[in-house]
Amino acid sequence: MSKLALLGGRKAVTSDPKDIFRWPIVTKEMEDSVLEVLRAGNMSGTNITKQFERGFADWHGMNYGLGCNTGTAALHCAFFGIGIGKGDEVICPSVTYWASCLPVFSLGGTVVFADIDPDTLCIDPADIEKRITKKTKAILVVHYCGRPADMDRIITVARKYNLKIVEDVSHAHGAMYKGRMVGTFGDVSAFSCMSGKSFAIGEAGIMLTNDREIYERGIAFGHYERHNELTVPELKKGAGLPWGGYKYRMHQMSSAVGLVQLKKYPSEMAEIDRAMNYFWDSLDGLPGVRSPRPAKGSGTTMGGWYSPLGHYKSDELNGLSITRFCEAVRAEGVNLAPGCNIALHKHPLLNVLDVYKDGRPTVISNSVEDIRGFGGPLPVTEGIQSRVFRVPWFKKYYPEIIKEYAGAIRKVIENHKELLSDDPGDPENIGSWGLSFH
Ligand SMILES: *Cc1c(COP(=O)(O)O)cnc(C)c1O
Repeated sequence: MSKLALLGGRKAVTSDPKDIFRWPIVTKEMEDSVLEVLRAGNMSGTNITKQFERGFADWHGMNYGLGCNTGTAALHCAFFGIGIGKGDEVICPSVTYWASCLPVFSLGGTVVFADIDPDTLCIDPADIEKRITKKTKAILVVHYCGRPADMDRIITVARKYNLKIVEDVSHAHGAMYKGRMVGTFGDVSAFSCMSGKSFAIGEAGIMLTNDREIYERGIAFGHYERHNELTVPELKKGAGLPWGGYKYRMHQMSSAVGLVQLKKYPSEMAEIDRAMNYFWDSLDGLPGVRSPRPAKGSGTTMGGWYSPLGHYKSDELNGLSITRFCEAVRAEGVNLAPGCNIALHKHPLLNVLDVYKDGRPTVISNSVEDIRGFGGPLPVTEGIQSRVFRVPWFKKYYPEIIKEYAGAIRKVIENHKELLSDDPGDPENIGSWGLSFH
């Protein structure tokens, strides 16, 4: 009989995971702070949100923070903040959550996809350059699944062509790029703080910038109740009504949670980092799998390791498909899933749908004429689903449990030849539009 659980053997993981996956970690202080807001009927105020903004901005050493009800809203404010409007093009990776770029369409802008780097899984600086036209205004960078993008090279391209940089930091709160926090490199950055993210405080988002005008444009756009903060004459003229027609105020039960989370996140992040590094150390040197983490000593870190991925090398396992590999590991009791976010340019919304009744697809309605070949081929992006898999996201450093999980993966790798004969290969679609969580 086979050793592998998928073929009738014993499961590798038998221990109770306890609270190793529980997230967010809710403390009494958080509960009390929420109750205080609730009992005071202060849910729709801005006083606590402003304290949270100050704390979050200070943590990054940035001048201004604008709390929003979602990360999507923070991105929308950021795009408006840097002045994206009719006909402007924003270059973005296609492997990301949709909110990284879809808000651009409602501003009359155009999304142009660039390929990703196979190692970082973030936007490829060399490919950005190929997508630049006279209409290009900005680059949207996602630090994807915790891994910081190659900011040095991205900044070089942005300077050369006078482009703005927007950082989407929804996957990498607290991560460092060469010793400096992500979210501090761009003209503006936006963070989702919804409860699946590593900095999880409810439905919430925040925009950071050092530029007073970008900050005020964000306020003008979706925060009419704060128009008394406006000082830029052009913006003051339009005070009183939200320019975008959106109401993006942060819920104060979330900002109250956020104030507590700011105090305890660094230690939680350190524990996650220790746990995830222990996991990958236990798999070091095995064929077929690689960690996504940056080199030790590079000063680049994974922050809270949001939705951590692994790289898969099918050729090192005699061509075993990632689907079959993950299935076998799941049978051992470890929830591995093949793929990541499905590439956005594959969706009808980014091909044929006419959202705003322009008489032609929204994807080209404000810019390029011909949809065929739009954005050009994205070879790395298109093949990535069979080359990455989602790994367990450990929140606690329990080495005995983590060792068991790593042991299950090791067991499948060591016995992978037993899986080859019945390997049906990969289905056509792997991954999901939005990452889903345990
Ligand atoms: C979650 C997420 C967002 C949007 O944040 P919400 O708070 O869910 O609106 C934006 N970008 C990325 C990369 C995300 O993962």
